[in-house]
Amino acid sequence: MTKFTGGCLCGAVRYESASDPQMAGHCHCADCRKSSGSGHCSHLLVPEAAVKITGALVSYERPADSGNVITRCFCGTCGSAVLSRNSAMPGVIFLRASSLDDPEVFKPQVVVYTSRAPSWDAIPGLPAFAEMPPQGLPQA
Ligand SMILES: [Zn+2]
Ligand SMILES: [Zn+2]
Repeated sequence: MTKFTGGCLCGAVRYESASDPQMAGHCHCADCRKSSGSGHCSHLLVPEAAVKITGALVSYERPADSGNVITRCFCGTCGSAVLSRNSAMPGVIFLRASSLDDPEVFKPQVVVYTSRAPSWDAIPGLPAFAEMPPQGLPQA
């Protein structure tokens, strides 16, 4: 059963998730900022096997501070970010909240890398960490 759907701006890339988000949060790291169009990215973690993707994604790989490789996938036609993968977390993907058909599916639980947040992009009201939480990301 489909729990939620999304896709890129032009509609060439679409996805359906059979899983509810297992974690959701905002990230202010410099790579998220540069790829976001704003001061942070908003991500939902879902099991990769639960998501059916149609259309072609273009990807860009880059190591994070941790040394893990982050692969950011976007539509080659309209440039919208759709999802990313972390080499340290096989089997899950991070969907961009901006790609959701219903943006209210995103229920943020945490803010990470606040040490890199621009002064104009503070996000109040959530547990916040200067970098990554020492115990790892909370799971729903
Ligand atoms: Zn597109
Ligand atoms: Zn980030």
